[in-house]
Amino acid sequence: MIIWCDHKNLSYFRAARRLTPRQSRWNLFLSQFDISITHKPGKDIPGADSLSRRPDYGTEPDEERTLLPNTLFIGRIDVDLHNRIKESQATDQLANTILRAKTLNIPSPFKFSLDDWTTDSDLLLFRKRIYIPDNKDLKQQILHLFHDLPSFGHPGIFKTTSFIRQHYWWPGLTIFVKNFINGCAACQQMKINTHPTTPPLTPIPADPSALPFQSVSIDFITDLPLSNSFDSLMVIVDHDSSKGIVLCPCNKTIDALGTALLYHQNVYRRFGLPKRIISDRGPQFASHVFQTLCSRLSIKSKLSTAYHPQTDGQTERANQEIEAYLRIYCGTAPNTWAESIPDLEFSHNLQTHSVTKTSPFNIILGYNPIPIPPAIEPTNLPSLSERLRLLSTI
Ligand SMILES: [Zn+2]
Repeated sequence: MIIWCDHKNLSYFRAARRLTPRQSRWNLFLSQFDISITHKPGKDIPGADSLSRRPDYGTEPDEERTLLPNTLFIGRIDVDLHNRIKESQATDQLANTILRAKTLNIPSPFKFSLDDWTTDSDLLLFRKRIYIPDNKDLKQQILHLFHDLPSFGHPGIFKTTSFIRQHYWWPGLTIFVKNFINGCAACQQMKINTHPTTPPLTPIPADPSALPFQSVSIDFITDLPLSNSFDSLMVIVDHDSSKGIVLCPCNKTIDALGTALLYHQNVYRRFGLPKRIISDRGPQFASHVFQTLCSRLSIKSKLSTAYHPQTDGQTERANQEIEAYLRIYCGTAPNTWAESIPDLEFSHNLQTHSVTKTSPFNIILGYNPIPIPPAIEPTNLPSLSERLRLLSTI
């Protein structure tokens, strides 16, 4: 007996190995018959639908639907911040005027259109950013989150403003950020240390076609205070593409074998083999690292390799940034620096780079990961389907 069906997956039904309990019961039932299921598009068998959609057949509950109450999940919304903004908006004149105008459908009393204002999760939004009323404490709380926290690492005025602007808005935001940072003791301290007097090193030209971590520089910051038994930090910079970093605590005595091991564990597993390695320990060292890495990967063929003989300004700049971060966050407890490494790496890769005009994360992942819980679920992040659609157009 041939059964024509417009559901293509059913043609494979009898061959499927892993069946749901519901499918297994049907399979058992259908095994009594000598049938073969053949796919035929729905438009060619319109009569079948009217049979299968008889209302009196629709009594069996859909067993594959799982309904779980929200109470079983942990959400990532910052409830305290959400409530503070909500309370502040409730007593704010601007917020109330706008909500009243929107409810009564009367023209905007301000220069901006009422269409710019929306509501989401009980909060008023201006151009999809949460509106923050004129409340100094609340604004300072937001500044603290996007500037002082280790995931951000005291970014400058421009970077801090752009982080905040992704989620929040208030009139005079940039000026508020500027005043806050000018009064930040940690930033003032860092400024003194990040303006070296040494002349800039020759920059090594970047290959514009390079993909993330195909051209890397490997450098070491040595003689740090002992932390988790490490005294040095291996800094791997994605030199030509994203400008992202991977940091691995290590020891000053690390050799090419140890370097290759750390590279395998921390970089290769995410980004694969590099095409070019630049090292401050010289070309022989870089060559040795590469050969050791290949032998760990069971690659036996003789490879042609060309290594750059010197370090350059970009690596040097990354190192200064790292040292400044460690001074700020570990200044009072120097032997804890190894514990700051995940946040340090994250904060670097989240920040807009002056050369690429975007963040390393954005180049590597196509978006910026969420660093801290937001006050409402963000709506301006691209969804997976949008990302796939975008990638298919490239
Ligand atoms: Zn600061």
